[in-house]
Amino acid sequence: MSEPDIFLAGGAFAHSYAHDLEGCYVPWQAERAPAPRLLQFNHALAQELGLDAAVLATPSGAAIFAGNVLPQGASPIAQAYAGHQFGHFSPQLGDGRALLLGEVVDRHGQRHDIQLKGSGRTPFSRNGDGKAAVGPMLREYLMGEAMHALGIPTTRALAVVATGESVRRDTLLPGAVLTRVAASHLRVGTFEYFAARGDVARVRQLADYSVRRHYPDLIGRPMAEFLQAVIARQAQLVARWMAVGFIHGVMNTDNMALSGETIDYGPCAFLEHYDPATVFSSIDRAGRYAYGNQPGIAQWNLARFAETLLPLLEDDAGRAVQIATQAVQDFAPQYRAAWTEEMRRKLGLMRREESDAQLAQDFLTVLHAGEADHTLAWRALAEAATGGTACLHAVMRKEAPILDVWLTRWQARLAQENGGRVQIAEVLRRANPYLIPRNHRVEEALEAATLGDLSPFERLLAVLRDPYTERDEARPYADPAASEQTARYRTFCGT
Ligand code: AMP
Ligand code: MG
Repeated sequence: MSEPDIFLAGGAFAHSYAHDLEGCYVPWQAERAPAPRLLQFNHALAQELGLDAAVLATPSGAAIFAGNVLPQGASPIAQAYAGHQFGHFSPQLGDGRALLLGEVVDRHGQRHDIQLKGSGRTPFSRNGDGKAAVGPMLREYLMGEAMHALGIPTTRALAVVATGESVRRDTLLPGAVLTRVAASHLRVGTFEYFAARGDVARVRQLADYSVRRHYPDLIGRPMAEFLQAVIARQAQLVARWMAVGFIHGVMNTDNMALSGETIDYGPCAFLEHYDPATVFSSIDRAGRYAYGNQPGIAQWNLARFAETLLPLLEDDAGRAVQIATQAVQDFAPQYRAAWTEEMRRKLGLMRREESDAQLAQDFLTVLHAGEADHTLAWRALAEAATGGTACLHAVMRKEAPILDVWLTRWQARLAQENGGRVQIAEVLRRANPYLIPRNHRVEEALEAATLGDLSPFERLLAVLRDPYTERDEARPYADPAASEQTARYRTFCGT
């Protein structure tokens, strides 16, 4: 069933993926949700996309976001992809519970995928039911908005609807569909799908399409430059994650987007006290995707990506391997440089000194030794810049005598900066967020939402939209969980 044009208010869906990449997807339809009800609608995002928010935030919108009514011009497809999951290759994953409705070009000319997630089985569903539950979909909504507010590239949610049916997980849970907005859903795994089948022509089509869509400056340039650009963007992205203490939780190659956006919020969570070995995901028993492993895993994933491009890099196979190897190795210095820039900002340093990376690393060593809350410790540097170290000492759970030694070094380094201390403190408050989505707050909000009360979720979402400003209503959301709670905390895949 197709409706009058309420989705795009006079605009039109584009279908560049479907048009240019025949054979990379299957046209498919959503299953019918018995009783769609809008749980969340992202007015700000709707506005950015040029959608008619007033109409979409109604039951007509809910019917669209549930997949029951196809907005005019939409043409749903399930995309094919493969992926290395926890290091093991699965040649066929694909959209097992998602459908791409089409693309929307916003008023700045930016193209966005509009995808339903949880809209029923597809030819890629394997043993899954194609469905999603309210808790995990609201979690994706919240995490995406929090990351966006932190300035980190991410997919975002436009809406979450409750479907009115139950989905069976460990228990019966209320079902939901999330509408996801992404720069695209091209993944490393998309390339792997065709490379594994020896379909070089399709890999070439995908690469050309990705260049046009995400790296237009590289149109007509050698493929090696595309590979290098994807690697550079991932180095930037992971450096941003590390700076805020974000743990993706399931960095499989199918969850790495060519656009450089954070994608697929499953068992993700933020660090509480600083410890590189931190893992929250219940399925990550070996800690493959631990906080501190993320840069190395990104590089590993990019090596899998580079392999898919080998036939496009150079006719001579040996030479192609050399180019790919060099590009993948270059991830390390690029990541290091991106991370050092992040750390300079977090330390309030405008000038560049050789020793800055070590200064940052040593601060992290202090935080580790002191079992300090990662977010609050960095935030406390704003106060410390003007001489007050009480906050910083207060976030050390354990005695850390090396803190004072480090502070003396940092103060000496700040003395080389041009700005006055008050100004530096202001810069530090813009670089180090006061708020992150605290795990216990996220769980509390999702538990209430699953039982039908969205108010804790909405309060949390509202404060996370401004993570840098200390204010009364944000205070209860800034506190870390009790350490026993964090030690016990486990996240679960959204499946
Ligand atoms: P994810 O863990 O969400 O990144 O998903 C990995 C793969 O499993 C993708 O191919 C998904 O489409 C598929 N998948 C996850 N959950 C379900 C489900 N409930 N039904 C069908 N396929 C699913
Ligand atoms: Mg995924």
